[in-house]
Amino acid sequence: MIDLNLPYLTEEHKSLAMLMKDFCEREVDLKALNEIADKPIPPNATSDDLRARMPWDLVSKAHDAGLRQLTVPKEYGGGGYEDDHIAQGVMAETAGYFGGQLGRLFTIAWKQAYDFKYAPESLANEVLNDFMQDRKTMMAASITEPNSGSDLLLPYDEPGVAGMYFARQEGDEWVLNGDKMFCTAGGVSNYVTLMVRTDPKAPITKAVTQFVFPTKTPGWSVSRVNDMMGNELVTNVQMHFENCRISDRYRVSPINGAFEVMRSRLAGKALHMFAVLGWAERTYEDMKEYAKARIQGGKPIIQHATVGAMIAEADCLLKTARLLLYQNAWECTGKGRLIPAQGWYYINYYIKKILMRLIEVGLEVYGGMGPQKELTFEHWVRVHLSIMHGGSTGVLSMVKAAKIIGGY
Ligand SMILES: Cc1cc2nc3c(=O)[nH]c(=O)nc-3n(C[C@H](O)[C@H](O)[C@H](O)COP(=O)(O)OP(=O)(O)OC[C@H]3O[C@@H](n4cnc5c(N)ncnc54)[C@H](O)[C@@H]3O)c2cc1C
Repeated sequence: MIDLNLPYLTEEHKSLAMLMKDFCEREVDLKALNEIADKPIPPNATSDDLRARMPWDLVSKAHDAGLRQLTVPKEYGGGGYEDDHIAQGVMAETAGYFGGQLGRLFTIAWKQAYDFKYAPESLANEVLNDFMQDRKTMMAASITEPNSGSDLLLPYDEPGVAGMYFARQEGDEWVLNGDKMFCTAGGVSNYVTLMVRTDPKAPITKAVTQFVFPTKTPGWSVSRVNDMMGNELVTNVQMHFENCRISDRYRVSPINGAFEVMRSRLAGKALHMFAVLGWAERTYEDMKEYAKARIQGGKPIIQHATVGAMIAEADCLLKTARLLLYQNAWECTGKGRLIPAQGWYYINYYIKKILMRLIEVGLEVYGGMGPQKELTFEHWVRVHLSIMHGGSTGVLSMVKAAKIIGGY
């Protein structure tokens, strides 16, 4: 369980964590949430089908408790913690402890709401007021495309390369065409932030505009559900857009000026990793308790040096991951939107490494029992293998960090 004794945490941060903990202890039924996430999803599922899977009762209760509104600015009636990354981190870690997918249900809302602080005022008013009033408003962000994943994030910057999802301007409207891929919560959201090529020939860093797409707009559909072995509560989808018309008032960035913003958004993704950390801490505790209870050779297996050392290694890895995350949150707090991305690159790389090692340790500690469905370990592994590459691969994170270090 989250350790509240870190010197980074103020009394306010600790109270927030306790608020989340009390809510989760009262309202969260992990078994029920896992059952929803594990329900098979038909390949042709529609947006309505995906919405039907959502735990709306829990979402609404979290809204009533003020937990979903953490990063909505105070002037809209929100929590006002949009620039306090430690507050967001401590809340995400606590929620993640009560369910890996539950944690991401919160962090997706927090990450998107945070962005509207920087949107044009009339747009921020429309979306944030909607979010505050409707207890079920969901938001998502879509950058990746079927044929452009990493190359949208790590630009080669040759004219016309990467990003085929296109919008052309017609008077006061934009006409959107193309496909978006791997969008977490895209099928269940009211608003999707889109990165759209608006210049067909320019290099990607000078060709992309950011929009917010209200999903009540006609002309789009879920074209494929990414049915993963550990599905998220909000599911991950491909979306097809055909001549969708939106007003210019849904444009967030200057025309062809989204790239810097997109890069900085990646840094904010560390929030998801706090939720992952909470879930990893939960798993570590399960593993440790199992090692204390399982008797082999006349004593609990944790007292065998091999198992004891592996449990200590897992504890050590999680504690270092935690330090890295909180250090990054501390460095980013109060810095506004354009926070340095390097911290996120390291986090993205390191947490993936740790999770893989934790899975390995778990398989050793549980012995042959590990993959059995009756253990939470099996579910934990499936969830992590399915979501750990959201936000791009560890390899790419290192390539991008190397570019910063090397100054090229
Ligand atoms: C659970 C999950 C949630 C996601 N949620 C979202 C979301 O909400 N919104 C969104 O927009 N996207 C989302 N994504 C997409 C994610 O960001 C992409 O998967 C990621 O950017 C990688 O793109 P790709 O899958 O096309 O891989 P590819 O680009 O095809 O990469 C394949 C392999 O090649 C390597 N590679 C590629 N280029 C290079 C290079 N230049 N140098 C070295 N190695 C390279 C990569 O590291 C990787 O190992 C999600 C993905 C997952 C798994």
